[in-house]
Amino acid sequence: METSDDKLERRLYSHDLAPLPKEMDMIFKTMPDQVIRPGYTEEVAQMVRKAIATKKPIVPRGAGTWGLGGSVPVKGGYVLDMTAMNKIISIDERNLTVTVQPGITWKALSDALDAKGLFLPCYPSSAPSATIGGWIGTGGTGIGAYKYGTAGDLIRDLEVVLPTGITIHTGDKRVPANGAGPNLNWLFVGSEGILGVITEATLAILPKPEETRFVSYSFENLSKFAPALRRIVRSNVTPMHIMFGDKLHFDYLRGLGKHAPDVGCMITMSLTGSKGSVELEEKTLDEIVAATGGAKMPKEVADHEWSERSYEFRVREMGVGAIPGEILVPIDSLEKVLADMDKLVKGMKLKAPTIGTIADNNTVMLMPYYLTEEHNFWRSTAAMGFGKKLGDIAFENGGRPVGLGIFFAANLSKYRGKDGAELIRSIKKTMDPYEIMNPGKLVETGTRWGISMPAFLMNFGMNMMAGMKKLMPRDKMGERELSKLKK
Ligand SMILES: Cc1cc2nc3c(=O)[nH]c(=O)nc-3n(C[C@H](O)[C@H](O)[C@H](O)COP(=O)(O)OP(=O)(O)OC[C@H]3O[C@@H](n4cnc5c(N)ncnc54)[C@H](O)[C@@H]3O)c2cc1C
Repeated sequence: METSDDKLERRLYSHDLAPLPKEMDMIFKTMPDQVIRPGYTEEVAQMVRKAIATKKPIVPRGAGTWGLGGSVPVKGGYVLDMTAMNKIISIDERNLTVTVQPGITWKALSDALDAKGLFLPCYPSSAPSATIGGWIGTGGTGIGAYKYGTAGDLIRDLEVVLPTGITIHTGDKRVPANGAGPNLNWLFVGSEGILGVITEATLAILPKPEETRFVSYSFENLSKFAPALRRIVRSNVTPMHIMFGDKLHFDYLRGLGKHAPDVGCMITMSLTGSKGSVELEEKTLDEIVAATGGAKMPKEVADHEWSERSYEFRVREMGVGAIPGEILVPIDSLEKVLADMDKLVKGMKLKAPTIGTIADNNTVMLMPYYLTEEHNFWRSTAAMGFGKKLGDIAFENGGRPVGLGIFFAANLSKYRGKDGAELIRSIKKTMDPYEIMNPGKLVETGTRWGISMPAFLMNFGMNMMAGMKKLMPRDKMGERELSKLKK
């Protein structure tokens, strides 16, 4: 087991995708006391026992690509970097399952399966760096979700080191966990590392489809895509994945000199199955799109868009931060949500390109991202209010924001109701009696002082930040890139 006390290294582990301004150190002790890289399960259990003995928090961490602070300490302690546990333990080709350590990336696993004619049905678009443990931990939606479900649907079994130092298996490696009492696999999906450390996962896989094809269509704007979308989800076509980007997203890319289309918005889908079924699905999609005012894009554009599916935030090459908000909304409210978002973005004087996916037949996942100056305390904290306001729009339209972490823990009662939230808090208390497992997240916004920030104060603060942003001068980031397009 590797350990590091090096200050620079600890600093690197004091943030995730969305660095906090240093002034936030007054509230959170994000700097870990030590970074630990375990190599196998018993070393994880040893560290949990050490955390209990020393009364220090222990924070499981994958690649740190999430943006809500799940893998960032709020009161120091040990950060458990799981990326050294990155082996494929076994591939059972006859039963179509794979057993892996949690630190392997989704892309490395997908590539290894592909080489054997096998297929990983779903993965996050951050697959080149996101780990198996991280995506199970965040329980998000991702590529392949429309047809095959999300990480939780793949899980046959997890090995988990509990906050008491005991190691358990949550399911069966060969058969699903149905009909065996409450499904413990799912208890850890989206648990954001507060209930235990996942040290091994057995996932169901598939044979590689005979045919995989990508198709792209453009529409005047995302609202104009909504009628086509409602026909697609009622049709017999089941794309593996449906993703989209709006005009501003592609304009920024063009301004940066990337290959991107000049369109109102573009939808890209991947179709998997037999040659015949894919052929038929493409034909049906062409008909739906033609009847609803869209246009088919050339095949090279669709192929290129698919190859870019993991690199949505290339705008960061402008030298600024890009922070995504993420909401799930019912399909029927898409136009209303887009209009509300437009009002919010204009009111906050932000520019927010919007990308997203169709999570399932009923749900759209929208991910507007804004450019931010991470070194500017006032601008970056004020813009954080955008995530809160975006969440409010989702709630008002029958949806909700995605994830809790440090910053949105105040939403737990809104997600689950008062009694539901209490149940989750009592599960946490029962499973983590020493309060060492990633404290201060999901069930509360913890601080370095050991007291939690009350939900109303957190929400008040976020609303204040959003209000402040409205009073600030308009953001100039990205204007240079957009002005190049006018020449
Ligand atoms: C370009 C980009 C695209 C993205 N696309 C998607 C997407 O399509 N879908 C999506 O859902 N998210 C997406 N994300 C967000 C993020 O990448 C995912 O949530 C990802 O799965 C996190 O994995 P990670 O290894 O980086 O986890 P981390 O950020 O390190 O951790 C995330 C959470 O999981 C917990 N955790 C990590 N490892 C373990 C473990 N072994 N045991 C227990 N808990 C653990 C941590 O404590 C933390 O709370 C994207 C992010 C980026 C930057």
